[in-house]
Amino acid sequence: MVAWVRTLNKKGWSVPDWPEEYGGTGWTPVQHYIFNEEGQMYPVQGLPDFGTSLVGPVIYTFGNEVQKKYYLPRIANADDWWCQGFSGPDAGSDLASLKTRAVRHDDHYIVNGQKTWTTLAQYADWIFCLVRTNPDVKKQQGISFLLIDKETPGVSVRPIQLIDDGPKVNEVFFDNVRVPVRVVARESKRQKGTQDPASAILKIKGSEIQQATAELLLDMVGPYALPALSKSDLESHNEAPIGPDWVATIAPAYFNVRKVSIYGGSNEIQKNIIAKAILGL
Ligand SMILES: Cc1cc2nc3c(=O)[nH]c(=O)nc-3n(C[C@H](O)[C@H](O)[C@H](O)COP(=O)(O)OP(=O)(O)OC[C@H]3O[C@@H](n4cnc5c(N)ncnc54)[C@H](O)[C@@H]3O)c2cc1C
Repeated sequence: MVAWVRTLNKKGWSVPDWPEEYGGTGWTPVQHYIFNEEGQMYPVQGLPDFGTSLVGPVIYTFGNEVQKKYYLPRIANADDWWCQGFSGPDAGSDLASLKTRAVRHDDHYIVNGQKTWTTLAQYADWIFCLVRTNPDVKKQQGISFLLIDKETPGVSVRPIQLIDDGPKVNEVFFDNVRVPVRVVARESKRQKGTQDPASAILKIKGSEIQQATAELLLDMVGPYALPALSKSDLESHNEAPIGPDWVATIAPAYFNVRKVSIYGGSNEIQKNIIAKAILGL
């Protein structure tokens, strides 16, 4: 995976969506579409998109020059892997209730608290976190976006066991973690903003299509989907799977995409946004 990203990076294609000045391509939407479709025809995989699609764009939009110069090339070359520390206990849909605190001491913040559902934290080098830096204002304000090196003393990761057996989500704990102030990308000051309901519609539709496709495959293969085997099971299995070999991962994939209508803002939350922004309810 890393070798593939670096091969692409040599050609300037590892972060094609980014602006050209930060290593992107400047392609048209059609060129992006062709590139993605070609990529999917081969057994190659890009990195999880926490770096390329999430924190990278935040850094080139809001970061300072030092941050841009340091982090962006390392993301594009897969030198650093990232995970997303937004959700905390009792702070998922209601993200503004997050309790992880960062208290400033001179040129450092001291971070204490917990994140949960942190996908792939076990592999990540860095975690970008929403933390409360000002507890004396409305809960939607006083939240900052911190970039935390996961190797910093006091950061620990505990896996959450899932139904599909994949150790992919985690709890992340911060115990007096010292974070240099220079890695703050921004503190939220605004309470209200105009939400674009287009992204809410796309999120719902995208989730529904993925889940409907996974369910259709499950229905098609019927009982052959019962001995659900993950990819790693298959690799370590001595016996041939029951039925054609391509059916073995269909049930795990079906269970796996149950998550897409929950994470990144559940479908109910997206519908609330549409109700408010389009229907004025
Ligand atoms: C597999 C997986 C991976 C994830 N990865 C990450 C990650 O990498 N980083 C990260 O930060 N987070 C991650 N998340 C967390 C995800 O963003 C939250 O699960 C999500 O925001 C929902 O929050 P919650 O789980 O606390 O559920 P809750 O917010 O408690 O919601 C429970 C139910 O109540 C409904 N509900 C809540 N509020 C309302 C409302 N106002 N109106 C109508 N219905 C409502 C929800 O739709 C949902 O059905 C992941 C989650 C999953 C399942």
